[in-house]
Amino acid sequence: MWNKIKWQIQRFMIGRNGRDELQVATLYASLIIYAFSGLLDRLIPFPLFRIIGWLGVVYSIFRFCSKDVNRRREENRKFLQEIEFLKLRISVRKTHKIYRCKGCGRKIRVPKGKGKIEIRCPLCGKTFIRRT
Ligand SMILES: [Zn+2]
Repeated sequence: MWNKIKWQIQRFMIGRNGRDELQVATLYASLIIYAFSGLLDRLIPFPLFRIIGWLGVVYSIFRFCSKDVNRRREENRKFLQEIEFLKLRISVRKTHKIYRCKGCGRKIRVPKGKGKIEIRCPLCGKTFIRRT
């Protein structure tokens, strides 16, 4: 009985994306939003958070079952990259700010508290103005 179910699940999962970091993160975030939706939706005259929670769960299931594995892998890679970027920003937040070059995507670290400055990307030479 259990072996048959296990085998059917395995057969269903052939060529599908399955579990990845983005899928798991979406699922947990959606469940948390859904858990608090009863409380949050009382603040607005529309069940917005319940809908967001549901859509998140549906998206997570879609990722899990998706057969377009290459595209899902690419999305997951970008997601992990954003997480790394966020971790880096948090780790240096007291002394530096980290910006991403709009031209080439390179991370540029600048000291904090210098006011509005022009930043030039050392890789592609593109400049942009940011407050530090
Ligand atoms: Zn650049």
